Amino acid sequence: MPSARGRFAPSPTGDLHLGNLRTALVAWLSARSGGGEFLVRMEDLDRVTSSVEHEQRQLGSLDGLGMDWDGTVVRQSERFARYDASIEVLTAAGRTYECFCTRREIRDAISAPNGPDAGLVADGAYPGTCRFLTATQRAELIDAGRRPAVRLRGDDTEVEFVDGCCGTVRGVVDDVVLRRNDGVPAYNLAVVVDDALQGVTEVVRGDDLLSSTPRQVLLQRMLDLATPTYRHVPLVLGADGARLAKRHGAVTLAQLAERGITAPAVLGLLAASLGLAEPGEPVTAPGLVERFEWDVVHRQPWVIPVDLQRSGP
Ligand code: GLU
Repeated sequence: MPSARGRFAPSPTGDLHLGNLRTALVAWLSARSGGGEFLVRMEDLDRVTSSVEHEQRQLGSLDGLGMDWDGTVVRQSERFARYDASIEVLTAAGRTYECFCTRREIRDAISAPNGPDAGLVADGAYPGTCRFLTATQRAELIDAGRRPAVRLRGDDTEVEFVDGCCGTVRGVVDDVVLRRNDGVPAYNLAVVVDDALQGVTEVVRGDDLLSSTPRQVLLQRMLDLATPTYRHVPLVLGADGARLAKRHGAVTLAQLAERGITAPAVLGLLAASLGLAEPGEPVTAPGLVERFEWDVVHRQPWVIPVDLQRSGP
């Protein structure tokens, strides 16, 4: 069997925190423990919040914990032509339509008592306002200065896949955006194109993305691309039960270093949180590769220790 190829795909919009690093570690261990490859891809589609400085600091954090990667780090901002080509394929197959709605119009359409598909629209799903626009209506909107986004005709298709951590997952695919009206490809499309073009065979990521996966699997099927295996791992939480964020205290390697918590100690903390080491046990990244097994990885969200949540050093 060819060996696995895993990946970590952060958005370079800030320093990686313990939650990001824990997901990266488990993705890296999963790939490396089977002798597989590991790629890093920068999901920098949003040029306003992304920066090369964040990218360098994120790579420095991975390196600091002993996680290495194969080949060059790919940037999504340099790959728009590939995403556009896939949107063309879907458009040629009649699977897309132009959507002129503003966010506000979508909100209003969803809340209107007799709005399109009233009562049938899933939470947050696009209500389908532009799905059946005629060529004349589209031309009028363009003449009025509106620029369209491109949406997938999801047709409320039900998609089922098996997740290595969460079991069988089913989801109904809405008319998700493929290209925003400023020309920027959307996350779901870009991630599918890149995972396929980069030959990724296993996706390990946070379970906040589980609900997006049916969309991605449907896009793979429509584009005739292989579906990788998926494992969505629980997120790291603050003591308040919310998803870990900067406000929770010392959560990045730089902040932890300021409190005298070195990279090896952070690796030990993350390993223990995953069930791969005893609390306080000294570990190394290669040592963890040797002992890694999915069966022992904890399936519960990890709440970071209270002493890291104090605000001062
Ligand atoms: N770029 C996404 C994030 O930082 C992750 C995408 C993925 O792993 O598929 O949340």
